[in-house]
Amino acid sequence: MTCTFIFKCRKCNEEYEGPIGGEDPARYGLMSAVFNLPYPDDFIGLPPKMHDIHSCENGKFVGVSDLIGYRIDK
Ligand SMILES: [Zn+2]
Repeated sequence: MTCTFIFKCRKCNEEYEGPIGGEDPARYGLMSAVFNLPYPDDFIGLPPKMHDIHSCENGKFVGVSDLIGYRIDK
């Protein structure tokens, strides 16, 4: 099972995909972002942050996006 983190831009409302991982890394990654909990060292990669930067409108505006969760891809 694969999980894909989704961000949504506050400026242009575009939803876009962030890091991809297995179910456990995704669950811990989300808890790490929301509750500021430690992310286990044995998981590969970095957990997502609550905010990201989005280049909107063909690069004419740089917006702030929010982590809205992860999609479960079976
Ligand atoms: Zn945007």
